[in-house]
Amino acid sequence: MEPKNDDPKKINEKSQNTDNNKNNIKNINESNHLSNKMEQKEQEKIENLNTLKKSEVNEEKNNIKLKPLANKENQENNQENKTKEENEKNNEDNNNKENNKKTDIQKNYYRKEIPVKDWGCRSIDEYDIFDNEPVGNGTYGTVFKAIYKGSEEYAKNYGIPKIVALKKIKTVNEKEGFPITALREIMIMKRLRHKNILQLLEVVISKPNEKNKFKSNAYLVFEYMEHDLCSIICSNFSYEKSQIKYILYELLLGLQYLHKNNILHRDIKTLNILLNNKGEVKIGDFGLSRIFAENAKRKYTNRVATLYYRAPELLLGDTIYGGEIDVWSLGCVFWEILSGNCLFYGDNDKSVFLKICQTCGNPNESNWPGVSQLVNYKEFIPQKKYENTLDKEAKKYSKIDDVTFDLLKKMLILNPKERITIEQALKHPYFTSHEPKMCKKEDMPKIEEELHYYSYKKKMEQNKQQQQHIAKGEYSKKNKFLGKKRDHN
Ligand code: ADP
Ligand code: MG
Repeated sequence: MEPKNDDPKKINEKSQNTDNNKNNIKNINESNHLSNKMEQKEQEKIENLNTLKKSEVNEEKNNIKLKPLANKENQENNQENKTKEENEKNNEDNNNKENNKKTDIQKNYYRKEIPVKDWGCRSIDEYDIFDNEPVGNGTYGTVFKAIYKGSEEYAKNYGIPKIVALKKIKTVNEKEGFPITALREIMIMKRLRHKNILQLLEVVISKPNEKNKFKSNAYLVFEYMEHDLCSIICSNFSYEKSQIKYILYELLLGLQYLHKNNILHRDIKTLNILLNNKGEVKIGDFGLSRIFAENAKRKYTNRVATLYYRAPELLLGDTIYGGEIDVWSLGCVFWEILSGNCLFYGDNDKSVFLKICQTCGNPNESNWPGVSQLVNYKEFIPQKKYENTLDKEAKKYSKIDDVTFDLLKKMLILNPKERITIEQALKHPYFTSHEPKMCKKEDMPKIEEELHYYSYKKKMEQNKQQQQHIAKGEYSKKNKFLGKKRDHN
């Protein structure tokens, strides 16, 4: 089954609405947009998992012994023949130097490591789930808001906050046992410490009992974030320019940290970007991420990144790729925050690629040497020669001025080798001289209502049903939710 797609006309209508009705909830069109996104996401994940399983399970097993996470500089300084203690001391010195330099990488909060023996051994009974109503429900995980009720000392030692998010791993369809996506997520996230990366706190399990039909479940425990970016954009909330700049900057720092530690996220999109009312912005969902070998021309699956955010080299079947794919996806996210719309929508790889060509022009051997060798090139390249019209498209949106556009355009360069790097992006005039300056963390909006895609979509569906009842004259006073408008300010 192919995922459904948005009608482009609807998307354009939506864009015009965006400027006019800033803080109102969009109705049926948006609900369709959301459900399409969800269907598409689920299809993608199924596809991805199948491919991952076939091609990467063995690789994954070999990767289980992970290097300790360190800054690249630290890794380079470590000499092989040094004793363990010398190495540890060296790392510590380097870390101190790094912190003194006050770089944003690895300048993170400290918390004691949970002992290895405790990982995955503590019980879900340490937490109480709010309402039993999930805030997120993907193909492989259901996310709940929960409250910690375990020992205070443990919480203090290991930095467990009062409110957390529990991601219950779905194992129903897993013939091969614990899902590989969850394994990846745990293996990688366990090592990450950065203010712009969602913190995995621990993994807990439920004991088999009658309630869970004698089937033990695993839960990933994360810090709780009040919103995901997709729901904020879909609810028509409009960020100020200085706030958009802040969000992009934080996301670039998060990606920079990942890439410096040889991790590709491979699923950057608005649904996987989480925000809280303290002004923090974090990258979550590491189910498709992987560790990459630097400079080694290893082949990886190209079935990564959700369709709309998938870089052209992936669509064309490239299997030797790098951090540029995450930059492309982030470019798509940047566009979406600025415009309220998804840029490259389509039903399948070919139609998304066509949309990219219609917007960014056709790739060819002169603007992208080697492109014609990629496996899908012959099949996907359109007969018609499209020019780059991104600037015309950008002019429709008041928030995309010349400097903003320059950065956007560079993040969305077809040839991955020409695409702007994270380091270059962080030094772009958009951040260094362009006005308005990026806002401070404290100046990020506090959105009272918690906005998560899943619950938001549910509410939209209820609204839709209610409208249908009204049309039929079946409105009941009990259903008060109808007509209630969101006020985000
Ligand atoms: P999946 O692998 O199924 O996509 P995600 O980790 O992306 O799972 O979570 C699905 C959704 O759950 C997210 O889009 C977001 O709305 C919500 N969510 C995920 N993590 C958190 C969190 N830490 N706090 C609050 N909501 C979260
Ligand atoms: Mg996700």
